[in-house]
Amino acid sequence: MFQYSHKVIDNGFDRGFVDEIIAFGGGNVHACFQCGTCTSVCPVSLKVENKVRNIIKMCQMGLKERVLSTPWVCATCYRCYEYCPSVIDPTELIVALRHIMVRDFGPPKFVVAFSQSIADQGQMPLITSRIKRLREELGLHGESIDERFRGKVVREIRTIMEATGFDKLIGIKLGE
Ligand code: SF4
Ligand code: SF4
Repeated sequence: MFQYSHKVIDNGFDRGFVDEIIAFGGGNVHACFQCGTCTSVCPVSLKVENKVRNIIKMCQMGLKERVLSTPWVCATCYRCYEYCPSVIDPTELIVALRHIMVRDFGPPKFVVAFSQSIADQGQMPLITSRIKRLREELGLHGESIDERFRGKVVREIRTIMEATGFDKLIGIKLGE
């Protein structure tokens, strides 16, 4: 027998959720009429349980708790925006949800780790000896940054992070 995977009535119902999303730049959430075009053109929709159209519906219904605790992925490619026949911008809605999540729960661990790595070495991935070897096998230079410029790159990145308050927002240390 067919069973719904989610309850229609949710105890986490939040009447002000849509207003919150709009305040964070998420656009007119109620303008979505659930045609599904965004999901059909979304490059990640086949890989995720909660498609963009479903996320928007949950937002319309005020299911804040469910939306914020649901794994959803968005590449911010804006494809849904290009195809949406309504006046809503699904990408900006997803970005607004990210803002709300960071405000309420802090930045995700992987964002903190990546940011610290960029502040420390001017690039996101740690270049381990294994990666160096792989790069060389592929005919690439072992180092992904020209070491002569790394110090300058790191100084510039730290200056930008400090000036914008990014380091404090994310909770990373900028070192010397
Ligand atoms: S394409 Fe636009 S109107 Fe259609 S479901 Fe997606 S957001 Fe809603
Ligand atoms: S912006 Fe996000 S939700 Fe929209 S199509 Fe791209 S990946 Fe999908």
